[in-house]
Amino acid sequence: MSQPPKNPFDLTGKTAVVTGGNRGIGLGLAQGLARAGANISLWARDAASSTAAAESLAQYGGETQTVRCDVSAPDQVEAATLQTLERFGRIDAGFANAGFGEAADPLKLELDDFHRVLATNLDGVFLCFQAWGRHMAKREGGGKLIAISSISALFGTPLQPHYAASKGGVEALVRAYATRLARYDVQVNAVQPGWIVTDATAPAVANERFSETVVRRIPARRWGEPEDLEGIAVYLASEASRYHTGDTLRIDGGYTIF
Ligand code: NDP
Repeated sequence: MSQPPKNPFDLTGKTAVVTGGNRGIGLGLAQGLARAGANISLWARDAASSTAAAESLAQYGGETQTVRCDVSAPDQVEAATLQTLERFGRIDAGFANAGFGEAADPLKLELDDFHRVLATNLDGVFLCFQAWGRHMAKREGGGKLIAISSISALFGTPLQPHYAASKGGVEALVRAYATRLARYDVQVNAVQPGWIVTDATAPAVANERFSETVVRRIPARRWGEPEDLEGIAVYLASEASRYHTGDTLRIDGGYTIF
């Protein structure tokens, strides 16, 4: 084992990719990583949001690159990987966070709509893990792959069958890559956020009745914020998690145990 750094959470000089890093949970992850010293490559489709996000990270002193990428498109993931490597030379940690959900009745859901959700939420994680994992295996020296799952992987979700299936698939994918890449000292884990305030959940937050029901079930008695994901991002990207792999770590204020 190489000599551990003085501060096992220090990410100075490391490069982390965050897909969907221009807002919401992705920006929370990126902020934690930047505050710990990492350089960040933000991948997303909306260039203006990515530029604004990069500007907000500048205060932490590392470098931030923005890359336009739809993670459901294999050629775009390949191109984005090359663009990140051209700028930073290596990828130390990759966070496959980009994702979305839609409400649909499982008895009426069309196959195309089912596939559209899986294309970003599951294919996207697969494509990123493969591109980043190949790079890490080739360059040697270890690395970190992290996927953002959801507590929907656990619960019956009557109106989001495709979303739930994608997140269940993500967790299985994590275990597959964790076992395959262990020989290269690459740790692979999933994070399961609970109810977090983002653009995606804004309608649910605004729905007073729904929001009250949610908060009543959270021992922390509040919705999570993207910043609540900063710590887990740093841990999973850092030397501190060097013997932790194939796991799913839940960040939900206690929702699932209450
Ligand atoms: P937001 O809608 O706030 O952000 C989604 C992000 O993903 C944006 O940055 C968006 O950028 C990006 N994105 C979406 N589709 C693609 C795509 N095809 N290619 C590249 N980027 C894409 O959502 P959240 O922050 O809430 O969600 C982030 C992740 O966390 C998702 O995987 C979600 O399932 C998961 N999650 C969220 C929870 C919550 O309560 N908020 C709970 C549990 C899990 P752009 O549009 O510019 O491409």
